[in-house]
Amino acid sequence: MAEEPRGAILQRDKKTYAIVPRIPMGVLTPEILEALAKVSRKYKVRIIKITSGQRIALVGLNPEDVEKAWNDLAMDVGPAEGLCVHYVQACPGTLTCKFGQGDSLGLAAKVEQGYVGKQDVIPAKTKIGVSGCRLCCAESYLRDIGAVAEPDGWKVIVGGNSGGRPRIGDLIAEKLTDDQALALIKKCIDYYAKNSKPRERVPRFVERIGIEAFKKGVLA
Ligand code: SF4
Repeated sequence: MAEEPRGAILQRDKKTYAIVPRIPMGVLTPEILEALAKVSRKYKVRIIKITSGQRIALVGLNPEDVEKAWNDLAMDVGPAEGLCVHYVQACPGTLTCKFGQGDSLGLAAKVEQGYVGKQDVIPAKTKIGVSGCRLCCAESYLRDIGAVAEPDGWKVIVGGNSGGRPRIGDLIAEKLTDDQALALIKKCIDYYAKNSKPRERVPRFVERIGIEAFKKGVLA
């Protein structure tokens, strides 16, 4: 069987592929947009689709063009399949939003750099959402791990999911500084990675062991 092109997802026509470049926290630049547009034109991309994970998918590439497209883009693969942290979504927070109570982009960037795309670290697909205030535009309660800024510090939430078995995440700590929130998120990821079953997502892991046991594992 021929090897799949790098970072490519076979489409339902069984002939063409989608690629999803890594766009940390969905923050774009004119240069990224120009590169995406150029590649889309050059390789006759059929659909340019904004994904729910704040990324842009180029859909409908021929297999022989996938590697060329990656080379032209000079961007990393944004994992859309596989057992790893796929993305960290975040709202603008205090960078621009008038409601912001915390630097959601700053906190999210640190988590993103540490975990996104690292294979063999995480037992299942994992998504993280960081919101700059309680309005929760980054869907923090519906992500495997979430953080929400309040006037008195960060809340950290685990076990959310918006998929076929939806679950509202559990609050495990609040009133955290930026550094404390980052440290706790890392601890949650590491504890989950070490103690869950293969392919068991965070919400299912939390349900299986119980939120109090999870808290004990990461807050002790
Ligand atoms: S969650 Fe709050 S800070 Fe973030 S974009 Fe929404 S309203 Fe603004």
